[in-house]
Amino acid sequence: MRPVCCICGKPITVRFWVCAACERAYHLGDFRDWPQWAKELKASEERERRRVEVLTLSDCPVAERMVYGELNDDAWHYYGDDDSENVWHTEIDD
Ligand SMILES: [Zn+2]
Repeated sequence: MRPVCCICGKPITVRFWVCAACERAYHLGDFRDWPQWAKELKASEERERRRVEVLTLSDCPVAERMVYGELNDDAWHYYGDDDSENVWHTEIDD
């Protein structure tokens, strides 16, 4: 499960909750100014991401290595600096 825009479901960077297009379309600049419906979508996406993180850390050796600091070249391969290739997320999709 990749991080996705909580409105349209498009894959995005994990730091964000909505994609640029939705941000513009719904004027979602500052989170405090978000409409209630958007906050609810974000909250449910947040729950989903937490659930996936828990699964990922316990089930994925690569993630464990990253968490516990034993980084090597192989581990970096799985962890791009953009939002495009979080490969280990997709491997535990059901
Ligand atoms: Zn979107």
